[in-house]
Amino acid sequence: MFNSFAARARIAVTAVATIAAAGAAQSADVNVYTYRETKLIQPLFDAFSKDTGIKVNVISASSGLEQRIKTEGANSPADVLLTVDISRLEDAVQNGITAPLDSKAIDQAVPAAYRDTDGIWWGLTRRARVVYASKERVKQDEITYEELADPKWRGKICIRSGQHVYNVALIASMIAAHGEADTEQWLKGVKANLARKPAGDDRMQVKGVYSGECDLAIGNTYYMGAMLKNEKEPVQKEWANSVNMLFPDTNGRGTHVNISGAVLAKNAPHKDEAVKLMEFLASDEGQEMYADVNNEYPVKEGVPWSPLLGNRMLTELAHAFCSGSLSFLSMAPM
Ligand code: FE
Repeated sequence: MFNSFAARARIAVTAVATIAAAGAAQSADVNVYTYRETKLIQPLFDAFSKDTGIKVNVISASSGLEQRIKTEGANSPADVLLTVDISRLEDAVQNGITAPLDSKAIDQAVPAAYRDTDGIWWGLTRRARVVYASKERVKQDEITYEELADPKWRGKICIRSGQHVYNVALIASMIAAHGEADTEQWLKGVKANLARKPAGDDRMQVKGVYSGECDLAIGNTYYMGAMLKNEKEPVQKEWANSVNMLFPDTNGRGTHVNISGAVLAKNAPHKDEAVKLMEFLASDEGQEMYADVNNEYPVKEGVPWSPLLGNRMLTELAHAFCSGSLSFLSMAPM
């Protein structure tokens, strides 16, 4: 009798110890939901774990993470959501899945133009939306967005759907600079200059230049890196090598940039660890690695650019992504 009680007590003690151990392990974890490819960002999480002892669990998907966090509700294991484009960060806010985050370290690292004034979303990298111009057929080495509506480019421009978030943000920046009426005129001019009906992603537009269908393609900067480093489909290196990247409006208001960024999840079970991870992503080490794996530009000033980007000129533009211009995203005429 006594023995069996002792045995049961031992089992109970073991069970408590196991739960305690699980609890301890849980408190040293952080759960990241991400649209970024896991294998690319894993080295970054490994560096964070090495520095802090906090394990990073990653859930990666190509869509639907905001909805998933919303559906999981109060029981959601999500601590941090990493996503791209200001509109998707704004979507996360609109879905009610975010929580404000108060961190001096992140405030100091991320310039005001690239973070929310209420401390809800944070830009971590920048991507410019540029013109990929045929090396063979385009002789000019500078361009403006405004010029894309010039009849001299009739039938020469390839661009993905105007309803895609990348273009919606670009159009929003045109509205911010020129107003709605002028932007509508500009859009009509650009549409008249299209070489074909918009289809495919940014890379497909560069392929269009390579194949001779168009002379100019509109695309985000990091696709140049993605194509040049593409060992799976090496023909993409040829697409990349058939074009020069022109950064529009470098002599004026600057090239339009968007951000990738992060939000803290509303019901984050590991809030302290989540804040530590976001502080790491905004640190010099995190910024350099995070921007490098995605071929993007760090948001933090003074952080070195990857060699691939270092020789490309980027003129910065802040106006499109101060929170005041977010309203333009929903007003964009698409
Ligand atoms: Fe993209």
